[in-house]
Order: sequence, then structure tokens, then C-alpha cells
Amino acid sequence: MSVVGWTVDPASVPVEVPRRILKATDRCDKGECAAAAFHRVIFSSGALDLCNHHFEAAPDSLLTKAVYHIDESWAV
Ligand SMILES: [Zn+2]
Repeated sequence: MSVVGWTVDPASVPVEVPRRILKATDRCDKGECAAAAFHRVIFSSGALDLCNHHFEAAPDSLLTKAVYHIDESWAV
């Protein structure tokens, strides 16, 4: 099947905008950091919000214990 004579105005196509789960008020839980959190590492016992710097300091040890990881480092 082909559609002839049918065009789409690109401006009418909704742009897929990535949505963040973490909010600006979610801050890094590491010590006195308090930078914006871009990672939420969820463990069976609770969750840890981390800035990109503190997550990147030890990603392997965090993720081996995690049950889920929300990675929003694309938004840094
Ligand atoms: Zn931090």
C-alpha cells in the first residue's frame, strides 16, 4: 500500500522529549555534597540519590548491590 499526495508538516509532529524522573529538589545523598542527583540507585533496603560525580566514583560496587538504577546522566 502506498499513500500518494499525503504529506506531513514536520512542525505538526510531536517531538519526543525525554522526561526526567528525578526532580531538581532531589539532591546527592553523599556526605555534604548536595549537588543535583542524576542517579537513583535502588536497593532492596532503600534508595540512594547521587550526583554524577559520586556515582562515577564507584559505579560497580553500587550496581552489584542494586535492584534498579535510574540513570539520568544524559541530562547533566
Ligand atoms: Zn554528590
